[in-house]
Amino acid sequence: MRETNWAGNQTFTAERILRPRTVEQVQEAVAGAIAVKALGSRHCFNDIADCPDGVQLDLTALDTEAVLDAESATISVPAATRYGDVAVQAHAAGFALVNLASLPHCTVAGTVATATHGSGWRNQSLASAVSGLDLVTADGELKTYSHHDGVVVGLGALGVVTRLTLDLVPSFELRQDVFDGLPWESAYEHFEEIQDAGYSVSMFTNWARDEIDQVWVKGPGRPGADFFGATAADGPRHPAHAAGIPADNCTRQLGVPGPWHERIPHFRLDFTPSIGNELQTEYFVPVRHAVAAMEALRGIAHRLAPVLLTSEIRTVAGDELWLSPFHGGDRLALHFTWQPDGEAVRALLPVMEERLAPFGVRSHWGKLFQRTGDYPRLADFRALAAELDPDGKFRSPFVRRQVFGER
Ligand SMILES: Cc1cc2nc3c(=O)[nH]c(=O)nc-3n(C[C@H](O)[C@H](O)[C@H](O)COP(=O)(O)OP(=O)(O)OC[C@H]3O[C@@H](n4cnc5c(N)ncnc54)[C@H](O)[C@@H]3O)c2cc1C
Repeated sequence: MRETNWAGNQTFTAERILRPRTVEQVQEAVAGAIAVKALGSRHCFNDIADCPDGVQLDLTALDTEAVLDAESATISVPAATRYGDVAVQAHAAGFALVNLASLPHCTVAGTVATATHGSGWRNQSLASAVSGLDLVTADGELKTYSHHDGVVVGLGALGVVTRLTLDLVPSFELRQDVFDGLPWESAYEHFEEIQDAGYSVSMFTNWARDEIDQVWVKGPGRPGADFFGATAADGPRHPAHAAGIPADNCTRQLGVPGPWHERIPHFRLDFTPSIGNELQTEYFVPVRHAVAAMEALRGIAHRLAPVLLTSEIRTVAGDELWLSPFHGGDRLALHFTWQPDGEAVRALLPVMEERLAPFGVRSHWGKLFQRTGDYPRLADFRALAAELDPDGKFRSPFVRRQVFGER
């Protein structure tokens, strides 16, 4: 039977999946392949990780260990390490990562390759913590890079990453408070104060109700009980609480302080969702357009709400990585967790992209979208991909379509 991604909406069409045990085996597999692509934990929602008629490389069996260097405050990890496991090891040694995504189960390499992010407008994407990486390029050569803005968010199109070095900061504690019912007018008027209310802030909505359903504030201190017109939740919440989903798998809320890695992700590491009954899309616009972009989406709320489980609004600090959606400045992240109805989602994508086009929208590489949007360093990335991979063995249909603009 063919393998699928986590959501089950993509059936991989690769001829086979190889599980090399050493970096040398990765080099041999890449050198000998006509078409090849690394596979992470398969949490992307589109065909980015597929390699039709070629070889997918699953690196979970690589025989290398994570190495934490306290002096330089870095951790060097094998590519397929899960973020949650990096977090546990860093925390045990008194360190932290600056930020985490909502789900701690994804691999470091897959997360970094797609510029995955958390929230907090002073926090950059997870890819920004990468200070070095080892990359097996098309001819099987192992290259080591440090601080190269072009290779980090590589979409698997430049080669196979075998190891990454991540910058660490001293470990810290956070509490997580959830508020119900933030009036939209208040969200607009106090947008900056709300983002400043925590280290990481997320707002959940279905766009159609008069209020934003929930605001999750992860920070060192206690936010005011009357949160810009929202009220403190009387129990734990799931992001899709309004759709009746229980909070059993969510990280601890109700203001109980705890280590950073047990508060920043929305979902607990010890709960492993084997398959997801959802689809996802995410768009990014410059933060100065935040209110106008939210208004633009509220204008089609009647179309969005019937297909949504929930939608999450976050902020992410800017960076210089070529294919990062946050390249060149802070962005508002507009995320959509859809019901598993691919046809309905596909019909909405062009409508949403048209609404957000005036704001210079960019799409999340790992989720469902139609057009990549406004990535100013795309031509430089194409040139780098052509240089490292002249025969196009990493150039899957996704890369041809979304990076090289082929039909
Ligand atoms: C429940 C859920 C919650 C999520 N939450 C967030 C969130 O909070 N924020 C956010 O931004 N995203 C989020 N995502 C999206 C997710 O983080 C990204 O899709 C991420 O890329 C998944 O990593 P992966 O290991 O599953 O990669 P895969 O889906 O397996 O692969 C993704 C890409 O990475 C490449 N890749 C993987 N390993 C390597 C390697 N060793 N070398 C070179 N390229 C490689 C693949 O070739 C492919 O192009 C979420 C997804 C789910 C399912």
